[in-house]
Amino acid sequence: MDLELNDDPQHDFDASLYVARKVLYTAASMRLPVNPKVYRVLYETECGSYETLKRLRDEMKAHPSDTDVVEIENLHDRVFDANSGFQGLSDISDRLSDEMRQVGSMVQNRLGDDESYIDSLNEARRSFGMFTRAAEAKRVIADLVAESQQHAARTAEFMSQLEEKQRQIGELQHELNELRNRVNIDHLTGIYNRRYFDEKLAQEIEIARTEHRPLSLALCDLDHFKRLNDSWGHSVGDSVLKHFAAIMRNNTKGKDTVARYGGEEFAVILPDTALRDARSVMETIRQVVYSRNFIATSSKQRIGHISASFGVTALRPDDTLESFITRADELLYEAKNRGRNNVAADLASGHAGAAAPAQKAV
Ligand code: GH3
Ligand code: MG
Ligand code: MG
Repeated sequence: MDLELNDDPQHDFDASLYVARKVLYTAASMRLPVNPKVYRVLYETECGSYETLKRLRDEMKAHPSDTDVVEIENLHDRVFDANSGFQGLSDISDRLSDEMRQVGSMVQNRLGDDESYIDSLNEARRSFGMFTRAAEAKRVIADLVAESQQHAARTAEFMSQLEEKQRQIGELQHELNELRNRVNIDHLTGIYNRRYFDEKLAQEIEIARTEHRPLSLALCDLDHFKRLNDSWGHSVGDSVLKHFAAIMRNNTKGKDTVARYGGEEFAVILPDTALRDARSVMETIRQVVYSRNFIATSSKQRIGHISASFGVTALRPDDTLESFITRADELLYEAKNRGRNNVAADLASGHAGAAAPAQKAV
């Protein structure tokens, strides 16, 4: 069947371009994918409101013998086929559909749900409806593609900046940990220092009181350490301090805090530990230290046995941090007075929550 739309092919071209433009505009505003099926349905709808094409369709409907349902449905194709002027438009609209589809999926893939960009895309799509010439439409699409690429480049740049920031944060966290360690750790022995001990003891007293649990504290001091230094030199003394710290750490539990209290004095906080148990831990340490036969590494000379004295006490209800430490210190002094190399504990003090007893050293 031959179709004549208009004597003026340029007019028909413009008219169909107008419809094509409206179709693309409608698709964009309805956020429909511009695929051939959608394009066709919308085009048919637009044709219904366009006079020349409407008349044509009515004609076709009026002469059903000349056509059939399929032909009516394919009106759009047939209109394009009917006039060589439309062939160009058909190509243009196909290309536009393709490009719009590509841009759409590319944007979706790359940008997910970046709302601001999707908005700008929709804006561009809307303005797409304003263009009447394929060259202009192509320019809009090229702009969209360029914008997509720029956005993708910005995203990539942003990602690499983000990675760099994450790396810097990792470094800072590492530095912070190092710093924290340096602040809390005694550099010679590698165990906690006095600063950390004070902080930790205050915390553990609080916990013991809140949870009604026992808390024990031990102070210990190496015996005749000055003599050792004088006889073997300061570096041998340092080495003995390191060994002693390691022995203390190896013979205490994970939740115990072993700290260098100062010089050749050490402290152990034993949470959740009754006095008898704390005393027995210190007794073990005392024996392990004394059983060692120290030998000077450089000269291979035998240094001999090294001993330490211990004062062990448990938290009382009326204790302050200071009174708790002072009592441990007094017991340590008592152990020294009793001839050193022994553990003094005020066994009668019981555990936190017990009534304050008279002190009894053993
Ligand atoms: P006592 O049995 O009464 O505790 O006698 P002592 O000699 O151990 O006690 P004193 O307080 O007289 O001497 C402690 C010595 O510990 C003196 C000091 O030079 C030494 N000292 C303190 N800190 C360090 C250290 O970091 N390294 C070494 N090598 N020695 C230290
Ligand atoms: Mg000493
Ligand atoms: Mg001392």
